[in-house]
Amino acid sequence: MNESIQADRFPRQELLRTLYRFQAGEEASRRVACAPGCAACCTDRVYLTGLEGGLLRGELERLGRLDLLARLMPGPGPSYTCNQLARLCLERSEPPDEPMPAEPAGVCALLDDGRCAAYDARPLACRVMASRQKCGSGGQAQGDPWWLTLDTALMQIAEHIDMGGSYGSLGALLADEGEDGQGDLLRCEPLPGLVTPPEHQVRLQQTLGPLFAAPVAGRPLGHWLDLIRGG
Ligand code: SF4
Repeated sequence: MNESIQADRFPRQELLRTLYRFQAGEEASRRVACAPGCAACCTDRVYLTGLEGGLLRGELERLGRLDLLARLMPGPGPSYTCNQLARLCLERSEPPDEPMPAEPAGVCALLDDGRCAAYDARPLACRVMASRQKCGSGGQAQGDPWWLTLDTALMQIAEHIDMGGSYGSLGALLADEGEDGQGDLLRCEPLPGLVTPPEHQVRLQQTLGPLFAAPVAGRPLGHWLDLIRGG
C-alpha cells in the first residue's frame, strides 16, 4: 500500500476530498465548453500525488475496473513538483530543464469509451483542466488567468497535503505501487508560499479563506496544513 494512504495522524484523504469539493464549487461558477465525452486533455501526461493515486485505485477497485491498470505505461515523468517549481520561482532560481519527450502524448489509460472510468476520483490535474472553447483534436484549451492562479494554488495545496509522499505520472504511480520513490517518482514538498501575480493576491486570499476555514476532522483545513508542515 502506498505510504500516503496508510493510516497516519493526519486525515489526508478527507483533506483532499475537501479540496476536491472546494474546487468543484469554484468550477461550477466558470463558463466552460467542456462536456461529457470531450476528452482531448485526457493524455498520459497527467501528474498527481500518491494520495490521489490511492483514491483513484480505490475507485477503480470499487467499480470493478482494475483491469484498466494493465494499460498503464510509466511514460515520461515530471521534472519537478508544483511546490518545487514554486519554491524555485520564489527563490528566483532557474527550474531544471523539462526535456522534450521523445514520444507524443498518448491517450490516458483510464479513458474508456471517451469517458473517464474513475471520474469521481480523477486527480486535481484533471479537475482543473478546462477551456472556454472546444479544444477538439489538436486544438488548444483557452483558459483564464484567474483560473490559472487559483488552480495553481490548489495544486500546491494538494501536494502539501501529501507532503513526503510520491508525485509523478499516473502510470508511474499506479503501476509502481509498492516501489515508492523509484523510477520517475518525485517527493511531495510543503507549500513554500503561493505563486500569485500581484493583481490576484487579494482575490486569492479572499477565495481561499473558506477553504482554509473548512472543518475537517474537528479542525480547520488550514490548521491541518500547519500540522502537516510540522511533521
Ligand atoms: S484520469 Fe480520467 S480525467 Fe484524468 S486524464 Fe485519465 S481519463 Fe481523463
